[in-house]
Amino acid sequence: MSLDHLFDRNVAWAQAKTRDDPNFFSRMAGQQSPKLLWIGCSDSRVTANDVLGLDPGEVFVQRNIANVVHTSDMNLLAVMEYAIEILEVEHIIVCGHYGCGGIQRALGDDRSALVDHWLQPIVMLYRKHRPLFDAITDPIARVNRMCELNIEMQVRRVASIPTVENAWVRGQKLHLHGWIYGVEDGLLRDLGPTIASAAERDALVSIDDRVRQPAEPTSGVRLHAIEAFGRAGAGNCCER
Ligand SMILES: [Zn+2]
Repeated sequence: MSLDHLFDRNVAWAQAKTRDDPNFFSRMAGQQSPKLLWIGCSDSRVTANDVLGLDPGEVFVQRNIANVVHTSDMNLLAVMEYAIEILEVEHIIVCGHYGCGGIQRALGDDRSALVDHWLQPIVMLYRKHRPLFDAITDPIARVNRMCELNIEMQVRRVASIPTVENAWVRGQKLHLHGWIYGVEDGLLRDLGPTIASAAERDALVSIDDRVRQPAEPTSGVRLHAIEAFGRAGAGNCCER
């Protein structure tokens, strides 16, 4: 099947851009200078530029299944090095989303695909705290709680990457953020942690503590899933 319709749409888009802003592409042809790096999920519904309302040139992007940060991932490390050392981005946003299929997979039993290797850190967090997660009877709320925890875990991992540590040692301004996106309402929520130095990273409670005591998102809409987990988690926590 021909994909000519995509080229047609591209021409229409390029023409519309030039109509609104005649210098748009000549400006783009110069060096890019985004101040944001977005590490997000590959999910087709969570496109960085669209949800941020930004134009091309405004955000540097790395996406993978379930926005996982593997500290041996050459792709991610090269993206981060370029973003931090050449582009000098000031903010790195790890953004996951509610209802993530990768997280859903990690909470299931099937381990037959390559993606199960990729999702291994999430699987291990789930298994370690399985009674707390399984106490959330609503399967959607259970997945959503792990969507949040996964973001918190990945922000901590970004903060442990030497490229980031070295930027802080140099005195470079670099803020790390954990955000979550609602595919149902199109809204971003600031989940945390927000980290701007190695000292702030080292002062954070462990991800295991965060499983037992879920965080209040610092802004945005709060989902019922968190409250459900809080009640279930508190009961189990006291028995430990
Ligand atoms: Zn996803």
